[in-house]
Order: sequence, then structure tokens, then C-alpha cells
Amino acid sequence: MNVHESEKIAGILCAKGYVECKNVEDADVIVYNTCCVRENAEQHAFGNIGMIKKLKKSKPDLVVAVCGCMTQQKQVAENIASTFPFVDIVIGTFNMDKFGELLDEKLLTKKRILRVLESNGEICENITPMRTSFPNAWVNIMYGCNNFCSYCIVPYVRGRERSRKAENVLKEVRDLVENGYKEITLLGQNVNSYGKDLDDGSSFAYLINEIAKIEGKFRLRFMSNHPKDITEEVVRAIANNEHACKAIHLPVQSGSNAMLSLMNRKYTREQYLQEVEMIRNIIPDCAITTDIIVGFPTETEEDFQDTVSLVEKVGYDGAFTFVYSPREGTVASKMQEQVPADVKKDRIMRLVDLQNERNRVDSLKYVGKTVEILVEDFDKKKNAYMGRDERGRMAYFEFGQNLVGKFVDVTITSTGGMSLLGKVVKVID
Ligand code: SAH
Ligand code: SF4
Repeated sequence: MNVHESEKIAGILCAKGYVECKNVEDADVIVYNTCCVRENAEQHAFGNIGMIKKLKKSKPDLVVAVCGCMTQQKQVAENIASTFPFVDIVIGTFNMDKFGELLDEKLLTKKRILRVLESNGEICENITPMRTSFPNAWVNIMYGCNNFCSYCIVPYVRGRERSRKAENVLKEVRDLVENGYKEITLLGQNVNSYGKDLDDGSSFAYLINEIAKIEGKFRLRFMSNHPKDITEEVVRAIANNEHACKAIHLPVQSGSNAMLSLMNRKYTREQYLQEVEMIRNIIPDCAITTDIIVGFPTETEEDFQDTVSLVEKVGYDGAFTFVYSPREGTVASKMQEQVPADVKKDRIMRLVDLQNERNRVDSLKYVGKTVEILVEDFDKKKNAYMGRDERGRMAYFEFGQNLVGKFVDVTITSTGGMSLLGKVVKVID
């Protein structure tokens, strides 16, 4: 999501005539787009901003700006402004679309701008992002979040749910397909609740069904489906849409009912497992991936074992695992019994090992099979092209000409840990 936001900031700069430069020393404007969802991202941001001090000293006209969800927290914005006096512009998430005007203001007045606003509920439709990940493209279908999971800062820094009008989303998807993009990922904190704030009958299922009518060969993905809201209607829409990857990202966060309740996730382990069953009944070979937090306040070894057993039961195709980090202002950060750092570390290592082993074994099942891969990039280190199958599994293969953006059939000959190695047997498109 943040990467796509950076593409929009780059788009704003591009529209003003700026061009991308390869070396930071050559830049006239440097923008740090920050994330505060987890603490380590925040620390990285502080470290990176600090590193630019020297450059700014030797190049006083350089404009340094910091934006994103970290700076949406007023106290953090003030902290950045006072820690880094060389930063010229500090803005939050809700006036990011005004970055161009703020840059003009800075250049004209030479004055420092520290402006963090509250949401006015508006959605900006007139930014053309400078896309950097061809053949993949991200498309926001909504912004904000209403869920207030107790550990999460997103609702505080991104405001309430705001859905884009379906016609705008559909136009963007159509244009991307016409321009050769081959994989479109629809973005929202809870894509299932898309349209609920629009009162025009739009829903996530409607959106998927409309995208099904768009001609051309491309893949459709979504991020994220909140388990409390995923419905049979949505899963059937995915099943019936030939563009939609048979892959669902369904973040569980924990396998323990006690933790799920404290996290305010609004589903139980049992309900989650029923949803997995429902998905697999409708789409038998559907890949399911997830997000998991370990070390949430009061998490015992038994709670953690509930997560382990759920991971084993579901047999995920992939899991993003996170050590819980307290975020100021959230309900969980005020909970007394925080889990010690070494316990959290031990648990995440056990979980990562478990999932890696599952992915390794799963990869072996591919050997001898031919899978359709969308070629995403050329990996210089491996001297091979890389791409993913519909389920999201990564594959590497050599080829004599540029394949980026093409669908190819690859026969898998061996595995490299979790990834697949193979030979191109057919270039499809
Ligand atoms: N809206 C999505 C998640 C967006 S944030 C959803 O509900 O599924 C991406 C992931 O970051 C979350 O799924 C969660 O696993 C993780 N995360 C969020 N806040 C966190 C925190 N305070 N500590 C650790 N991980 C966190
Ligand atoms: Fe955060 Fe929960 Fe909203 Fe996801 S659904 S963004 S985890 S509050």
C-alpha cells in the first residue's frame, strides 16, 4: 500500500516536470514516505532521514520532505521536525495529494512547512501514479479502516473507510489492461467492506463481477480480505472470474480465541476455520495466505500453540509473520502484560521455521509439473527471469530474450528452497 502511495508522490513530481534520478546525490527533491504500522519501520525511517543531513549541508537548495502515516501522528511529526532541522516539509497522509502545491509554497516562501491535517473524507482522483512495478499494478479501491483491531494504528492515521466510486476503479483497471499491465492488485484494509459507505449498491462482489467483463489476459488479486467479512458471494465471484487468481490473503493474526478477542478481530478460530472450508469447497485448489502476530500482550505458550496448530491445520501457502510491537495510542499498548522480547523472538522463529518447512515441502510437489508464470523481472544475481504462478509461488528460469510482462509455461525441474526452478516450454503472450 505504501509502495503505491510512493508511486503517487512520484506521479505528482513527474507532473511538475521532475524526473527520477538514480543517485541520491543528484536529487533536487527527496521525499521520505514513512510507515508506522510496526516499530522497526519507524526506526528505519529515522535512520534514513538522519543520513541525508550531510548531503543537505553541501546542497542547501535540496528540498527534503517527510510524509506518510508516521508523520500523521502529530507528536511524531513534531519530533521529526525538531530532530531533523534540515527537513523542509512534513505532511501527513490526508494532505499527501497536495504535495505539489506545498512544494511550490516551500520554493516560493523558502519557509519550512509542518502541516498535518485531519481527514476531510475526500478521495483524490486526479493523481496519475508513476508506476514502478510493471507488469504489476496496484489499484486502491478504498482508503482508511473502521475496524480498530486493538494492536493497530492504521485507523488512527488513515481515517475511516472511504470507497472509491466503482466507475473510477473500473476505468483505472481498464486503462491498465489496455496499457499492457498483466497483474492488478486491488488494495484496501478490508476489501470485503468496499462500497458500504457509497449507498449506490456497489460491493466488493459487484466490483469483481464487473472486472470479469474486462477483456484481455490479466490477473486480478486483492489485499486484504478481513475474515470477519468474507462472504460466499465474494468467494463465488472470485471463482467465476477468469482473471481472478485462485488465491486469497486471509490474515488470521492468531489461532487463540483469547488473543483474537483481545485483538478485537471479531471472529473466532472456529469461524475462521469454517471460512477456510467454505473457500476450499467453492475453490478446491485455492491458495490461502495469511498475516500472523506473535507475542501479543498476555500471549501464553498455550495461545502460541493454538496458532501453531491452526497454521498446521490450514496449511498456508504463505504467511507474513510479525512480532507484536506496541503502537502508541492503541488499546493494546496500554495492556499491562507485554510479552518479553526474547519470548517473542523465540516464538516467531519457531513459526517461521514451520511455515518455511511447509513451503519447502509444497515446492517439491511442483517438480515435473508445468505451470503458467507471469514474468515479473530479471534477477541479476541469479541471472534468471523470475515470476509467479497464480498461487503466488515464485519461479526462476533462464531465457534468451526479454520476457518481462509475458505469461509463459514453465516446466518445474527442481526447487531452490521455497522457490521453483524450471524451463520455459511455451511463451503464451
Ligand atoms: N488490514 C489488514 C492488515 C494491514 S496491516 C488486515 O486486517 O488484515 C498488515 C499487518 O501488519 C497486519 O495484518 C498485522 O499482522 C501486522 N500488524 C499490524 N499492527 C501490528 C503491530 N502493532 N505489531 C505487529 N504487527 C502488526
Ligand atoms: Fe489494522 Fe485491523 Fe484495520 Fe487491518 S482491519 S488495518 S489490522 S485495524
